[in-house]
Amino acid sequence: MQKIVVLGGGFAGLWSAVGAARILNERRIPLHEIEVVLVDRTDWHAIRVRNYERSLADVRVPFDDVLASVGVRRVRGEVLDINLKRREISVQGLPEPIGYDRLVFALGSRLDIPPVPGLAEHAFNVDTYEAAARLRNHLAALPSQPTACAHNTVLVVGGGLTGIEVATEMPDRLTALGKTRVILADRAPWIGSDMGEEARRVIERALGALHIEMRPGITVRAVDADGAILSNGERISAATIIWCGGMRAHPLCARFPVPPDRFGRLPVDEYLKVKGLDAEFAAGDAAWFHVDGTHASVMSCQHARPMGRFAGHNVACDLLGEPMLPLRIDWYVTVLDLGAWGAVYTEGWNRRVILTGSEAKLVKRTINCQRIYPPRTGGRTAIFDAAAPVVQAPPPMRSAQGGPGAVSD
Ligand SMILES: Cc1cc2nc3c(=O)[nH]c(=O)nc-3n(C[C@H](O)[C@H](O)[C@H](O)COP(=O)(O)OP(=O)(O)OC[C@H]3O[C@@H](n4cnc5c(N)ncnc54)[C@H](O)[C@@H]3O)c2cc1C
Repeated sequence: MQKIVVLGGGFAGLWSAVGAARILNERRIPLHEIEVVLVDRTDWHAIRVRNYERSLADVRVPFDDVLASVGVRRVRGEVLDINLKRREISVQGLPEPIGYDRLVFALGSRLDIPPVPGLAEHAFNVDTYEAAARLRNHLAALPSQPTACAHNTVLVVGGGLTGIEVATEMPDRLTALGKTRVILADRAPWIGSDMGEEARRVIERALGALHIEMRPGITVRAVDADGAILSNGERISAATIIWCGGMRAHPLCARFPVPPDRFGRLPVDEYLKVKGLDAEFAAGDAAWFHVDGTHASVMSCQHARPMGRFAGHNVACDLLGEPMLPLRIDWYVTVLDLGAWGAVYTEGWNRRVILTGSEAKLVKRTINCQRIYPPRTGGRTAIFDAAAPVVQAPPPMRSAQGGPGAVSD
């Protein structure tokens, strides 16, 4: 039996596994000839992009709801190591390594936590479901706690996209505390500096309307249980500090003999094969290539999903000796949640603002709650169809008043 092994069941890994199974199914290749195995440390496909939201009720989908009907074998376990020479994966708890004929590396990324004193121990984050649940439980317990330490103050550190989404959600999440203070700090000279000037003005308008204090040009020197000391020596008392300082590719990327980019990602070609290797593909946050010939892929669900679908298709075709399909994505959008104010929706790499406020929020809700989920109804055929190696169309340029229409992933 030959084996295609997919590491990670996030937006890239899940669709790689289903994409590979889809081709094998189309070619009527029985499972005892080529098996697809997905390895993940959890039992859940995490809709990670929703971890900043108030409710976490629907942000995970059981893997078995998706994989059981398409013939992908699932292994639950922590991937410990990869031996490229032997083509073997060590998984915690398994007596033997898992061998592979073809591999898709899709272990994603993780929050970068620098060695700031107290940060790892005292700060919250929303990188994983478990971390987001810890923050949710902490916020829920605040109203019943003594008010000595500034229990109604939240300091969000990191004014990139995740930090802005976390901060703008806070006023709504803290209503039980009465008067609250939310501070959003970043070392860059502006909050949301990655978003370009036009979108940044929208973000600043939203932050102002939500009474969120902006503290650009600031780093955190130390964190403790009652607050943080900033680089200018100022102390901020806060019962809640949330670190949103950026992501790095999975540390096991370092096992591959290829030069990583500045995020630690593996270079792949347009077929998602790791450059210079024969049997290994990579997709999602762990990989990068020029999606439109010019711009490097972004660590995003928007790119991870099509990368996954194409990696799955190509890894199976490569094993079968069939031609592979190049991935090219000629458009790019950003839809940033701005809490009760709404959202901002930009198009293009220079982030031209298309929609703001409630219209943009409609698009955001459609993406977060529908578009990026595996088909919620329908069986095997619908799941296979969702894994087809296609790049979906960009969102239409019309206003969301008539409904957001076909929204991209
Ligand atoms: C709060 C937040 C908001 C975001 N908002 C957006 C947004 O609006 N739009 C957007 O496009 N992107 C957004 N992103 C980024 C997006 O979530 C990631 O780019 C995306 O999840 C990458 O998908 P992936 O499959 O490559 O990796 P991941 O989603 O990280 O999946 C990796 C998988 O590998 C598993 N895994 C990791 N290590 C191991 C191991 N050692 N052993 C076994 N299993 C392991 C994990 O359990 C996980 O299932 C956001 C991220 C966060 C945290």
